[in-house]
Amino acid sequence: MSVHYVFPPVATKSLAVVDSEARFPINRIFCVGRNYAAHAREMGKDPEREAPFFFMKPAGAAVDAAEGEVAIPYPPMTANFHHEIELVVAIGKGGANITREQALDYVFGYAVGLDMTRRDLQLDARDKGRPWEFGKSFAHSAPIGALRPVADVGVLDKAGISLTVDGAIRQSSDIAKLIWSIPECIAYLSQYECLQAGDLIMTGTPEGVGAVVVGNLMHGRVAGVGEIRVRVIEQAQ
Ligand code: MN
Repeated sequence: MSVHYVFPPVATKSLAVVDSEARFPINRIFCVGRNYAAHAREMGKDPEREAPFFFMKPAGAAVDAAEGEVAIPYPPMTANFHHEIELVVAIGKGGANITREQALDYVFGYAVGLDMTRRDLQLDARDKGRPWEFGKSFAHSAPIGALRPVADVGVLDKAGISLTVDGAIRQSSDIAKLIWSIPECIAYLSQYECLQAGDLIMTGTPEGVGAVVVGNLMHGRVAGVGEIRVRVIEQAQ
């Protein structure tokens, strides 16, 4: 018997897949905090290798940035809207207590993403010991490009990652500098939560985070994975 809802449910967000007409339905978005030493330092934290920590964005925060230039509105209630370029890992198979050795069997593919952040709200919450949601988990805060299947990419333990704003380089690093590697992130997270197909893991940003304003065009790349172009526009009234 089909379910009758009191109103139509919100549509499932999905990502394009390179060379495929089928789309990847997004379940949850997990994000790793401070996973590059130089970024941990610029946030005023000791990059000593302690256990990784995670926060989440709702699936509805995702913006399909697969093709051309996409627009995101400057969000309300901030005066310090920051870019964080990140490698996104897409989970294609569910599982718990996954080992590092098994981890890549659970990966569907990779994409380039932006963990857009209301830095003023995030730091205020952090300093007060409060949750990060208002700083991190808002609408349009996760533009993500097309997913490139793992078979096309192979083992991703070294690749340039960069972001320009209006052509000027802001962030430039390498996936090799991740404090917690992709298999380690998957293994760690799957101890706490049974991963499901459709989950995304944003793996953290390198140093060079900074503010964008209305009109700025962000161009993010991960070598061998893809690129995205995202412009900041006025908030719709
Ligand atoms: Mn981030």
